[in-house]
Amino acid sequence: MGWWVRAAVKPGSGLLEPALSLVFIFLVAVPVAPDPPNVLNLQVALAREMVSHLRGELSIRSEVDIVLVKYHPLVFFVEPEDPRKERFRLSMEVGFLLRLDDDELLAAMAHEMGHIWIFTHFPFLHTETLANVIGQRVVPRRNFERIYTKLWAYERTAGVPMDELLGPVQDHVSADAPTGDLN
Ligand SMILES: [Zn+2]
Repeated sequence: MGWWVRAAVKPGSGLLEPALSLVFIFLVAVPVAPDPPNVLNLQVALAREMVSHLRGELSIRSEVDIVLVKYHPLVFFVEPEDPRKERFRLSMEVGFLLRLDDDELLAAMAHEMGHIWIFTHFPFLHTETLANVIGQRVVPRRNFERIYTKLWAYERTAGVPMDELLGPVQDHVSADAPTGDLN
């Protein structure tokens, strides 16, 4: 249900790379930013703002808690914290979060909010494509193309065809697209 397909990474190498990436980030960050944690704080504050905005746009009433992690097999991951789905926990891998510019972060947050939309709209089932289709209601497709390109570089994977992940290009909402209580 997370949005990244880390299983595609070569066996044995996937677990080490993120940890090494994280160390590398902080090492290179020291000379340019005397206080690296502030860079992270700013990025988290921005993510929080985006989540708040997207919840409004997608009519998501559940609360979202942001949790930073050194490693997650799916890089970014969202899950319900209670059976009634009133709160969700969004875990974000720091090493990747710090690499994202605003447009990429917005697409990542829109994708995760797409998952929360699916969680809270019976009977839609989780797929990465559907989460992206929901996200593209409020964030341009090119943002998603950029975040996936960056992710595949981060994970050193070849990726998959973009149209499979993002769904068909749509000028308007088609009749069979999930609409729920949105217009
Ligand atoms: Zn996902």
